[in-house]
Amino acid sequence: MSFPIFMNTPPQWPGPAPKEADVVVIGGGVIGVCTALFLARAGQRVVLLEKGRIAAEQSSRNWGWIRLQGRDPDEIPIMLEAGEHWRAFARQTNVDIGLRQEGVTYLAETEKDYVKYEGWLDHARANGLDSRMLSSAETAKLIPNLSRSYAGALYTAQDMRAEPWVAVPALAGIAAREGATLVENCAVRGLDIEGGKVAGVITEAGRIKAPEVVLAGGAWSALFLQRHGIFVPQLSVRATVVATEPMDAVYQGGAADSRVAFRHRADGGYSLAQGGFSELFVGPSAFRSLRHYATQLRADPFGVRLLPRAPAGFPDGWGTPRRWADDAISPFERMRVLNPAPNARKAAKLLRQFAQMMPGLGEVRAAKSWAGMIDTMPDIVPVVDRAAALPGLTIGTGMSGHGFGIGPGMGRVLAALVTGDKVGHDLRRFRLSRFSDGSAMTLGPGL
Ligand SMILES: Cc1cc2nc3c(=O)[nH]c(=O)nc-3n(C[C@H](O)[C@H](O)[C@H](O)COP(=O)(O)OP(=O)(O)OC[C@H]3O[C@@H](n4cnc5c(N)ncnc54)[C@H](O)[C@@H]3O)c2cc1C
Repeated sequence: MSFPIFMNTPPQWPGPAPKEADVVVIGGGVIGVCTALFLARAGQRVVLLEKGRIAAEQSSRNWGWIRLQGRDPDEIPIMLEAGEHWRAFARQTNVDIGLRQEGVTYLAETEKDYVKYEGWLDHARANGLDSRMLSSAETAKLIPNLSRSYAGALYTAQDMRAEPWVAVPALAGIAAREGATLVENCAVRGLDIEGGKVAGVITEAGRIKAPEVVLAGGAWSALFLQRHGIFVPQLSVRATVVATEPMDAVYQGGAADSRVAFRHRADGGYSLAQGGFSELFVGPSAFRSLRHYATQLRADPFGVRLLPRAPAGFPDGWGTPRRWADDAISPFERMRVLNPAPNARKAAKLLRQFAQMMPGLGEVRAAKSWAGMIDTMPDIVPVVDRAAALPGLTIGTGMSGHGFGIGPGMGRVLAALVTGDKVGHDLRRFRLSRFSDGSAMTLGPGL
C-alpha cells in the first residue's frame, strides 16, 4: 500500500449504514477503529462512520512509533495494555503491519537534556518499564554512524513501531470480521438529541438511531462538539514528515535529537520529522482557547510557530461554519480528508540535517513528504470521558501527537466506558471537566 492514505484510495467499506445500532462511533482513525473493535467484541451492534477513508488523517500520517518512553504517568498503564493488544492484533490479522520491538531513543545533546530525560525515569521505574539512561559511549554503540557525540540518551528497549498506513486498515479488518459495520464516505453532521439525551446521529445519508455515540473525530472533534454546546480547548497543529528512499538500516527503532527524529520503515527508507516543531494556523478557536494554553506557552514559548490563517475548510478556518442545519452540507463533507501541504522548507532542511547526522549513509534522497494536523490539548493529554452534559455521548479525542501507539488501549477503555464494563485504569487525568472545574493545568512531560 502507498502512504499516507488519501481520498483517491478506493473505499473498502462503502456501506450503506444500517438505520439502527447499539453504538455509533464517529471517526475512522486508530481511536475510532479500536473502539469499534472492542465494542463488537463486547457483543454490541456497532457502526463506525468515517467521512473520508479509514486512517486517511493522522492515523496514516504519523511516524509509527509505539512508545512508552516519555509518556504522561497516567497514560503509561494504558500504553502497557495497548502494547499487549498490538501484539495480539499482529497475530489476528494476515497482514504484516510491520510491528517490531526495536526500541526508542532520545538523544541528549547536552547535560541539561540528559538530566531532563533522567527525571522521567521515575515514572518508568514506578511502572516497571525497562527504560534506562545510556552513556555517551553506549549511545554511539547503539546507533552507529552518528556524526557527533551525545551526552547520552534515554532508551526504552521494549518500545515498538509499526507501519500506520497498513496497521490501522488491518485493525479495521479485524473489527469488521468481529462484527463491526464500517462505512466510509459518510460524514456525521451532528447528534440526534431527544429529551436531553443522545438518540443517534444525523449523517449525510440520513438518521441512525442509537442510544450511545462515541466521538473519535481527531482534529474535527472540537468543531463537532461546539455545535452541541460542548467546549473542548483542542487545537490542531501541522507536522511535516519526509520519507527517504531506501537506505542502510543503521538503527531499526525510533530515535530523535532536537533537530531530527527518524525511524526506519519496513520498505527500507527512513521517516524524518522534527519532534519539537509544529505549526498552528491561527483561527477563531485558537483565540477562544488561548488562556488554556498559557502554561504550555510559558513552558515552551518557541515550540509552536504561528501561521496567520488556515487553508479554506480546515477545522479552525476563519470561514469554516460553526453552525449548520441537519439537512445542509456540513464542514465534514466539504473536507473528506484533512490533507495539509507539507512545509517544503522544513522537509528540505530535515533531509540536510539527517545527512549531517548520519554521514556514513551517503546521499539522502526524498521519496515523498506529507503533513498531518495533530489534535493537541493544553496539557498534552487527551479527553477520554463520558460527556456529563449529554448522556449517551462518550468522547475520545485530543491524543496530542501520541495516539497511534496508545490507540488500542484507548479503544478498549472507550468501549468499556460505553458498556459499563471495568475500565481498569484511573481516567481522572483525562476528564473533560478539568478545563472548567478550576483545576490547575498540569502539563504532561511532552517528551
Ligand atoms: C506527523 C504526525 C506524527 C505522529 N507520530 C506519532 C507517533 O509516532 N506515535 C504516536 O503514537 N502518535 C503519533 N502521532 C499522533 C497520532 O497519529 C494521533 O494521535 C492518532 O492517529 C489520532 O487518532 P484519532 O483516531 O484520534 O484521529 P484521526 O486519525 O485524525 O482520525 C479521526 C477521523 O475522524 C474522522 N471524522 C472527523 N469528524 C467526522 C465526522 N463528523 N463524521 C465522520 N468522520 C469524521 C476524520 O475524517 C478522521 O479520519 C502523529 C501524528 C502526526 C500528524
